[in-house]
Amino acid sequence: MGPEELPRKPRQGETCNGCGLCCAVELCGLAVELLGAGSVPCPAMEIGGGRFWCGLVRRPSRYLDTPPIGDRALGPLMRMALSIGEGCDADDPLPVPRPVSRRDRSARTPR
Ligand code: SF4
Ligand code: SF4
Repeated sequence: MGPEELPRKPRQGETCNGCGLCCAVELCGLAVELLGAGSVPCPAMEIGGGRFWCGLVRRPSRYLDTPPIGDRALGPLMRMALSIGEGCDADDPLPVPRPVSRRDRSARTPR
């Protein structure tokens, strides 16, 4: 992650603004299962344009060691698996960071 300043977390249910707090304190199922991540923050967190992005959606080949040409197909699949676009579902307040969490794939992801 870079030193850019990120937006403040919106209330749960509001449009995701890419604050990144959810993935900084809790791993999603894909991070655990596909990336073998064992601690937060998630290694697939990317910062750009003043917000956080899920690298697994943005450029999966970088994290999955797959051919870059497959990103156009894999990215949308990851996005769908994470239900991105449905609003912030991170708790208010956020949970305390934990080493590993197998949260549901459809839960608490950047949306
Ligand atoms: S949504 Fe993306 S950045 Fe967030 S924990 Fe999952 S894989 Fe990592
Ligand atoms: S889903 Fe995550 S990145 Fe999006 S606003 Fe909520 S806490 Fe921030």
